[in-house]
Amino acid sequence: MFLTFYGAAREVTGSCFLMQVSGKNVLIDCGLRQGTDVFDGEEDGFVFDASKIDYVVLTHAHIDHSGRLPLLYKKGFRGKIYCTSATKKLCNIMLLDSAHIQESDAEWRNRKYKRSGDYMIQPLYTMEDAENVCRYFYAVEYGEKKNLFDGFSIEFSDAGHLLGSSSVTVTATEEGVTKTLVFSGDIGNVGQPLLNDPKYLKKADYIVMESTYADRVHAEPGNTEDDLARIIQTTLDRGGNVVIPSFAVGRTQEILYFIRHIKEEGKVKGHDGFSVVVDSPLAIEATNIFSEVGEMYYDKEAKDLIDQGVNPIGFEGLSVSITSEDSRMINEDPGPKVIISASGMCEAGRIRHHLKHNLWRNECTILFVGYQAIGTLGHAIQNGAKRVRILGDDIAVNARIEVLGNTSSHADRVGLMRWLDAFDNRPDRVFVVHGGEGNTEKWADDVRTQFGFNAVAPKFSESYDLLKNVRLKEGYTPETHSRVTPNTVYKYLLESGSRIGELIKNFKGRTNSETKKFVRELDDLFKRYS
Ligand SMILES: [Zn+2]
Ligand SMILES: [Zn+2]
Repeated sequence: MFLTFYGAAREVTGSCFLMQVSGKNVLIDCGLRQGTDVFDGEEDGFVFDASKIDYVVLTHAHIDHSGRLPLLYKKGFRGKIYCTSATKKLCNIMLLDSAHIQESDAEWRNRKYKRSGDYMIQPLYTMEDAENVCRYFYAVEYGEKKNLFDGFSIEFSDAGHLLGSSSVTVTATEEGVTKTLVFSGDIGNVGQPLLNDPKYLKKADYIVMESTYADRVHAEPGNTEDDLARIIQTTLDRGGNVVIPSFAVGRTQEILYFIRHIKEEGKVKGHDGFSVVVDSPLAIEATNIFSEVGEMYYDKEAKDLIDQGVNPIGFEGLSVSITSEDSRMINEDPGPKVIISASGMCEAGRIRHHLKHNLWRNECTILFVGYQAIGTLGHAIQNGAKRVRILGDDIAVNARIEVLGNTSSHADRVGLMRWLDAFDNRPDRVFVVHGGEGNTEKWADDVRTQFGFNAVAPKFSESYDLLKNVRLKEGYTPETHSRVTPNTVYKYLLESGSRIGELIKNFKGRTNSETKKFVRELDDLFKRYS
């Protein structure tokens, strides 16, 4: 009985773990590595034989857990994929969306390569691969024990991170010995709208757990709904639009949930029936899925609404734009409104049009509701850029920029502690995965010192014998190369530099102590880099 780590090993994305039991091969998750760095040699395939995989057990639909399934199919996989019915439905749309991105990205790069006489590239996978792999999905609901083959069963429990997200308990028997493994999946934050808090599990011989925010304690949630109501009120009063760049699946539906309640309680005054537009084809499809899955996926508040015949994310004044013509019409109509659009970090999609039409207007608000990675347009706007380039135009940033606090869908350090503390027995070993910037190693240290458990942060392709609880093969840190050219990174630097210039100008008239502190920090920075 073996366990090998083929992803999310000392990094935060690309979850992929292989279990080998009684001659069968089972993958737990098959995620895509995201961000700017890619592994050399693995970019277009797997380091194992995809056609030899018999089963995939999928914790949730996020692309960093599911995104290489179409590639697995392309490379010969014809087995069965098990997940909850909500995950299955979400994967249907998310994998197609991912394939669409792969295809257009390859097309865009090839256009450039053609001009420079460079070699042509193939998309990682196509829409057809994504459609094909979706035929191999089978649904198993929370709490249902499913036997995959003799001596191997799985059970999903609610991880409270995304609709349908789960932790998986695997019970495997080989040579008359039974071992229980818990794969945490992504562990949810507590008190999120729509979703239950993560379910705590009690027993495992081995635990494979995430550590995304092991170094962070989330700010007190405050009152997200009241903050949102205030922002909508003041913006509509000024006659502006509230533009919300949002992740299509999960975050968009949470915002709709808040707005439904804001409207019911009449928290925004003087703008009866104000209109809210969801402008993202993926977000619209996801919203439909949220409305059609069973109430077993929802927390008590949402369930109560459903029991009363109320759609928790539907309300009067909500409209969706399906075609790009509908999308264009949104900015023709002068009435103030709320516009929710993707992508969440403003890097692609219809949101760019809305930014172009609203960023320069004083009366509008751009409201960020999720994480903005460095180097993205969203990050630049959120961090005070005065001008940005969108769709070939220079746009002044005059709109108000707001950020909605603590909307994380991941447990923080306290949540991870609580999750691990819930186990009744002492595990043989804890494997820490899914954490960036040294978080896996640090969390493994904490698990050793604070819980006294045997804990390790495995490297890529590291392998363990689970019957003997010994490491079979040491992993390694694969070479990465950057998808972002040095020129692009240098461009980010120049942009940051000009923002510092703006910031210095804004110091005129501030107190001496504030200015001195800033000078000291700048001096430190210069010392470190020159
Ligand atoms: Zn996730
Ligand atoms: Zn994840």
